[in-house]
Amino acid sequence: MRTTKKEPKTYSTETELIYGKTVSKKWDFNHHVVPPISSSSTFRLDSAKRGAQGFAEFAHHAEGVTIESCAPIYVYDRLGEPNKEMLEENLATAERGEMAVTFSTGMAAVSAALGSLTGMGDEIIAHNIIYGCTYSLLTNWYPRYKITTQFVDMKELSSVKKAITPRTRVIYFESPVNPTLELIDISAISEIVKEINKQRTPERKIYVVIDNTFASPYCQRPLELGADFVLASLTKGICGFGTDMGGVVVGPRWSYDIIMLYRKDFGGALAAKSAWPILVYGLPSLPTRMRQQMSTAMEVATFLENDSRISYVSYPGLKSFPQYELAQKQMRDYDGNFAPGSILFFSLKGKTPKIRRDRGEKVINSLAKKAYTITLAVSLGHIRTLVEHPSSMTHSAIPLAEQIKKGIDPGGIRLSIGLEKPRDIIRDLSEALKIL
Ligand SMILES: *Cc1c(COP(=O)(O)O)cnc(C)c1O
Repeated sequence: MRTTKKEPKTYSTETELIYGKTVSKKWDFNHHVVPPISSSSTFRLDSAKRGAQGFAEFAHHAEGVTIESCAPIYVYDRLGEPNKEMLEENLATAERGEMAVTFSTGMAAVSAALGSLTGMGDEIIAHNIIYGCTYSLLTNWYPRYKITTQFVDMKELSSVKKAITPRTRVIYFESPVNPTLELIDISAISEIVKEINKQRTPERKIYVVIDNTFASPYCQRPLELGADFVLASLTKGICGFGTDMGGVVVGPRWSYDIIMLYRKDFGGALAAKSAWPILVYGLPSLPTRMRQQMSTAMEVATFLENDSRISYVSYPGLKSFPQYELAQKQMRDYDGNFAPGSILFFSLKGKTPKIRRDRGEKVINSLAKKAYTITLAVSLGHIRTLVEHPSSMTHSAIPLAEQIKKGIDPGGIRLSIGLEKPRDIIRDLSEALKIL
């Protein structure tokens, strides 16, 4: 153990994401500067007694014991091992939560959060545009367990209020919404739920659960805005380099044991070999990457906004963004600076949806063939700029008329800004737009 204990609390969050807890109970190394990769699926137990204690203590924290203060008895990787637990400490710090549990993918985190908080007969209220696989989870799988979902437009606070029934247990949304980038007012919705919860017993409380993948904790911390749980795909901005998949749920202390049990039994544990690069490279570099990517996103958004072939650009950092005021309220970095994220959505002009969709595809195809700095690929938040056409790709399962109703313009293109020089991205974009 290191004997010189430094107190991270007196340092800034950004610095803390590099060093973590300087003395972590999750690892007993003396002289490593970087934590070693843990690559052991099982752990030696010195005695039957230690084995029994390891099983007994798993997901059974005594009241008042902090998660950080526990030196765990490691038994088996799926239950817990050092790399993911150090990453969990740092993710809790990043999201300003009391605890974090990691998962093998973002979807494993989504299903663990919702699966731990609901049971037969319960109802979820979700925004009417959500990540495709989350939509499939709610509509194809949960009805089998008699868990139903109402989809409402959460930009309208009154429709959220109206939708709540005695069966409601979870309010679920993403903000910014994928791919339109529209925002949902996190603190306003949390306030509504807090009011309603005053009349409910603890067993029937409603929880506000937010998928924070798009913003990343650097740009937005839903727990500080009143949400109960925040989850994210680590595959995107937090890993940042496009090398590993992962997910995380961050929330209150009391939920730690049940979410750990869910992970143990449903099995979506993050591989230690994936936890390590996120712990060592991804999370420590998130603030620096985000700052650069946001500044480039602003330049690219401004360039697109001034191009006559573009009908509109949706980027929360632009003054023309319809919810600019809300963006300024809830998207803030750790120092309180405006942090509108690194993803933008823009749409091409065209009289009919069909013309716009064809144009969108044309521009995408041209980028795919010719651009050096822009890659046609799903995912986002990477150091490489990624582009996709939601209408014909990620959101193609939604019929065209329905897409338009939901604000997914068929001519819309989603751009996730990377670390390339802004002028190189702009050069590739202007080259591709010439095809119109
Ligand atoms: C990618 C993504 C997910 C799912 O994450 P995986 O790591 O791919 O399982 C969930 N929500 C949002 C908003 C995403 O972008």
